[in-house]
Amino acid sequence: MVLNRRYFLVLLGASVGSFALDGCALAQSNMEENTSTAAPSPTQKSEAKKGVITLPPLPYAYDALEPHIDAETMRFHHDKHHAAYVNNLNKALDKHPQLKNRTVDQLLRNLDSIPADIRNTVRNNGGGHINHTMFWEIMKPQGGGEPTGALASAINQYFGSFANFRAKFNEEGGKRFGSGWVWLVRNKDGKLEVVSTANQDTPISAGKFPIMGNDVWEHAYYLKYQNKRADYLEAWWNVLNWEEISKRFTQAV
Ligand code: MN
Repeated sequence: MVLNRRYFLVLLGASVGSFALDGCALAQSNMEENTSTAAPSPTQKSEAKKGVITLPPLPYAYDALEPHIDAETMRFHHDKHHAAYVNNLNKALDKHPQLKNRTVDQLLRNLDSIPADIRNTVRNNGGGHINHTMFWEIMKPQGGGEPTGALASAINQYFGSFANFRAKFNEEGGKRFGSGWVWLVRNKDGKLEVVSTANQDTPISAGKFPIMGNDVWEHAYYLKYQNKRADYLEAWWNVLNWEEISKRFTQAV
């Protein structure tokens, strides 16, 4: 298997979690040097900048996911909602600058280690930041279809068929009361499962790897779908970027 440069950087980013903070800072400065030749994910790019988290640009135009997700929703969702999570996270970390040595993933994996006065802010806004960063990347114009290769095999193994998986995912997304997310995760036992979380909670905080997730907050669909969340959940499959989701599955494994 050929490891491309970006994938290597992702592995590097994932592996620093087990090192001391000094090792982490060193790895991050290495990543920073590499940004001129590699194409790190928006999360990595933002975290390489001296502890200031920045809003990653949307990887396509606001109207690129029409007619399934409308441009107006994308504009508000990215420019206002995601931007607010980033701003609030930065403000919280300003109160405890020593935390800026950690990646957002590391912060969320160890919420108990976050000072109590900013713990909930980091949980909500750090989660909001990484959840949305993933969300933009796993969608694309002219997406949809079905996964192939190892991911397709794993889905068949754990859910019987892609159709069953899709139905289960939509069901869990529909059942989430209020705001939250529905996910395909790899759990601690290495098994795939469909789960939902409340608010901006990420499966990372529960020791699970989020392979793909859909945002079921009303802000993700209300302008176009109003109260019809089920219609939004169905339409979302038409914009999925299975290449990106497969990469995340490989990282999870
Ligand atoms: Mn959202």
